[in-house]
Formats: sequence, C-alpha cells, structure tokens
Amino acid sequence: MSNPPQCPQCNQTDQVEKASTIYLVGINRKPLDPQDSNRIAAWLTDLPHAQLHALSKRLSPPSSGKQAPVRPIHPDMVVIVFSLVAPIFLYGILSSQPGATVPVLAVLAVFYGLYFWQRRRILTRFEGQLAIRRAADERIRKGIQRWMKLYYCARDNGLFEPGSNQITPADQINGLLLQ
Ligand SMILES: [Zn+2]
Repeated sequence: MSNPPQCPQCNQTDQVEKASTIYLVGINRKPLDPQDSNRIAAWLTDLPHAQLHALSKRLSPPSSGKQAPVRPIHPDMVVIVFSLVAPIFLYGILSSQPGATVPVLAVLAVFYGLYFWQRRRILTRFEGQLAIRRAADERIRKGIQRWMKLYYCARDNGLFEPGSNQITPADQINGLLLQ
C-alpha cells in the first residue's frame, strides 16, 4: 500500500488499509505471498490468521443473501410454454380416451378463462415483485460502491471514506453500507 489516506480519528496512516483489500486477503486463506507485502499494509501482513479471518468476515461486502439467483419469469411466458406443450399431452389423452375430450377441453377453457380474467392482477403482482427485486439489487450495488471506497483503521477499529472526517465503528458496517 503506497499511500493510504489519513484516519480522521488518529490522524495517522500506518494502521490504515482498504476494507476491500483486508476482505480479499482474509478470504484468500493462504499465507501471503512475499510480493504482496509491498502492496499491503505491514500491520495487516503481521496479523495472526484467526484475527485476519474474523476482520475479513466483518468487512465483507454487502450481498443479496438468501435472494433466489433465478430471475422471475414473466407469467405470459409460462402460459405460452404451457400452450406449446399442452397439444402433445392433449393428443396422447384424446387418442387413448376419446371420451375425455369434452372434460379436458372444459378444464383448459377454465384455465385460460381464469388466466385472462386475472391477467392484469397477476401482471401487477409480477411487476411489483420485479420492482422490489430491482430496488434490492440497486441497494446492494450502491452498498458495494460505498464498500469499495472504505478504509479501515486498525488503531481505532473504524471505517472511513478518504476525505471524510467521520469514522464508523467496524461492527456498524452494515448500517454504513445499506443505509
Ligand atoms: Zn485511526
């Protein structure tokens, strides 16, 4: 680390390192490459592994947590795929049980009727879910941007942005990132 910014609490730079660097060094789980010590603050390379790991965990970036990785599927898409596949099953049922034609077509008619009757409500709900998801993604994106700018001072166990005169205790990082 060539030129860490000054900590607003102790006004020194010797115990300061980028939060993202601490995180990455900590999750690396390997002994540090001697070459790395040129880029990384000395206090960090000297930190006992368990301590480094705990600090890295505390300074981890905001993540989407339990959110499902799959994107929600548009309800119309589900109906279209169903409509493409249905004739195959329909053909199978009707060629083996011609008597089932009327009830099967009635069930299909009820299904499509219900869908088009409720479509607007279903789509509104779907769009609401998308909006919630987009807002959450945006919050995390902004949180990661903020996280990339944060520096940690080991002397004060606090986080700060270069140029700011405010320092935040390291255990309040979530409030800082997802405010
Ligand atoms: Zn400090």
